[in-house]
Amino acid sequence: MALSILLVVLVAALAVLLLRREATLRRVRSSLGPSTSADAGASAARLRATADRAAAVVQDERTDRARLLEHLGSGVLRTDPGLRVVEANPAAHLLLDRAPGSLLGRTVMEAFLDTAVESIARSALEGAQAVGEVHLADADGPTLIVRGQRAVDGGTWLILDDVSELRRLQRIRTEFIDNLSHELRTPLTTVSLLAETLAREADAPGADLPPRMRDRIGKIEIETGHLVQMVSELLDLSRIESGGTIGLLEDLDMGQLATEATERLRLFAERQGVRLRVVTEADLPSVRGDGARLGQVVINLVHNAVKFSPDGGPVTIRARVEGQEVITSVEDRGVGIPTSAQARVFERFYKVDRSRLRAVEGGGTGLGLAIARHLVEQHGGRIWVESVEGRGSTFAFALPIFVP
Ligand code: ADP
Repeated sequence: MALSILLVVLVAALAVLLLRREATLRRVRSSLGPSTSADAGASAARLRATADRAAAVVQDERTDRARLLEHLGSGVLRTDPGLRVVEANPAAHLLLDRAPGSLLGRTVMEAFLDTAVESIARSALEGAQAVGEVHLADADGPTLIVRGQRAVDGGTWLILDDVSELRRLQRIRTEFIDNLSHELRTPLTTVSLLAETLAREADAPGADLPPRMRDRIGKIEIETGHLVQMVSELLDLSRIESGGTIGLLEDLDMGQLATEATERLRLFAERQGVRLRVVTEADLPSVRGDGARLGQVVINLVHNAVKFSPDGGPVTIRARVEGQEVITSVEDRGVGIPTSAQARVFERFYKVDRSRLRAVEGGGTGLGLAIARHLVEQHGGRIWVESVEGRGSTFAFALPIFVP
């Protein structure tokens, strides 16, 4: 009897276990998906459909990319990690003056015949954002901006933009300004000298001129002086712009250079009631450049700082090290520059407010900062301004420390 009860209990326990296992299996099956052979066939078909859809999307993307590259004005090349061209659009062939398709399989060096492009591609291979301007082949070859970018597969993308026309127009503009200033300089200098003589004669004892006439002669003298200054700054600018890179290179101590440049303006500042203060770090590391030109930059900045401090606030000139650069700055507590104008003050001929300028010093050419920016950039540096209207401005430029 006991045995049969035990047997019944055992059978019941077994049945419960089996039922539980069946339920677990059902759960697992339902989470895994259909399990019958019919279900398996359906799911395989679904998988195939998904794969087909993905393949179609990839194909569409490829077609789109090919179309885009074909019609793009910029030249686009893709290279493998060995810098061999594996893809190049029609614009790339056109810019490099090659027959369609002939760039494929060539190395970057064979394609461009230019070491600068090869080093851009190498930097891109290493993951750096590389860009440079190159003038290809002979004098008639195009001027290209080449941008390099690492491709996902380990190769590189090279993007080419033709800036030949832009550079040609810039050259014509520079030549035009240069010629015009040359033509204007001689007659203007003569007129200026004559106005100066007239003004002196009008002021001489015994010269019996009505005050109104004397006043007008004085104004003619001042305005011709401005014209002469504008023409000579225009000449400076076009010379600097067409000069490309700087000629004379010396090891320079920016502290000393800033001090000397500031000294030249001390008298002018005193006349405006402005106190000049120079603060420089001792033993500043050298920068490399043309001392006369960098001195000109400091002079332009200090001159402005004094000119735009009508209430005679102090002007502080500093030279200090920051990271790998020497920063030279000129701080004033003058009229300041509205935020909207700050980005534009380095453009040629830009002036914030002509009436304010006249009130301050009686004129300006709007070229001083354009010249300063050119000079600083030719030295591999950058220039910027921080300013609050009504409170004052700090103009600063950074030059790389010279590492011999
Ligand atoms: P210029 O001084 O001959 O007009 P710049 O190119 O040197 O030409 O300066 C351009 C303009 O930037 C000036 O006309 C002036 O409006 C503004 N500016 C330059 N320096 C300062 C300064 N320190 N404070 C206020 N405004 C300035």
